[in-house]
Amino acid sequence: MTQPLVEYKDVHKSFDDVEVLKGIDLSVAPGEKLALIGPSGSGKTTIIRMLMTLEQPTSGYITVDGTPLWHKEVNGNLVPADEKHLRQVRGNIGMVFQHFNLFPHMTILKNCTSAPVNVLGIPKEEAEQRAKDMLTKVGLGDKLDSYPAQLSGGQQQRVAIARAVVMRPKVMLFDEVTSALDPETVGEVLEVIKDIADEGEMAMILVTHEMDFARDVADRIVFLESGVIAEQGPPQQILENPESERLQSFLERFR
Ligand code: ADP
Repeated sequence: MTQPLVEYKDVHKSFDDVEVLKGIDLSVAPGEKLALIGPSGSGKTTIIRMLMTLEQPTSGYITVDGTPLWHKEVNGNLVPADEKHLRQVRGNIGMVFQHFNLFPHMTILKNCTSAPVNVLGIPKEEAEQRAKDMLTKVGLGDKLDSYPAQLSGGQQQRVAIARAVVMRPKVMLFDEVTSALDPETVGEVLEVIKDIADEGEMAMILVTHEMDFARDVADRIVFLESGVIAEQGPPQQILENPESERLQSFLERFR
């Protein structure tokens, strides 16, 4: 078996005295597309925020490409990771949020070149070419010199996706990226994500309430309930033949 790209081992997470993740074991293979579904408050966002190193597990381990997130090995012992180690691990991970978080004072093109130039050290011309190609792919090749405020929500979200993908991460995290959008722009954003997914290279973890989208894009659906993985499997099985009553009643809401 190939080494998992992402692995959670018995991960627990508490906020104050409340345990919101209660022992998560989950691996994602290179290139695999995983949809994370479940009721609000079940812990989906916390799972992906931990991978982005925005939250630290209370106990358990997370590795990316075999490298522990919060620890590093020194002479065979695991010691707490320093900022340099975290930066390296984060370089494998891209994230798109519900709110696009574009830099308002930068053009669309600059939004997509600043990290490749400043973080990856790619020459400006090369970064611009990469960004232009990607922005063209998401249908915004004619908006390079516009500013975020001049674009619709759906267009801004497509920029946010392009900005993450130009970094060529090994895994992309999408946290309910359509839930803050006007209904008429949801489709165009999902279409862009699907196109990128179809290219196959990057693994993806998608938190979504769009069940048709999950069916189209995901190789596997994971159903989270009260901080545990209650059920998982191929989309067909999870959406057509849910085993547990909890998943059945969760899916009822989308019919
Ligand atoms: P989901 O994404 O499935 O809606 P979350 O991961 O956002 O769930 O939240 C899981 C639980 O953890 C919720 O009860 C939420 O209130 C709580 N929680 C999340 N982040 C924090 C935080 N920073 N401080 C306190 N509680 C939090």
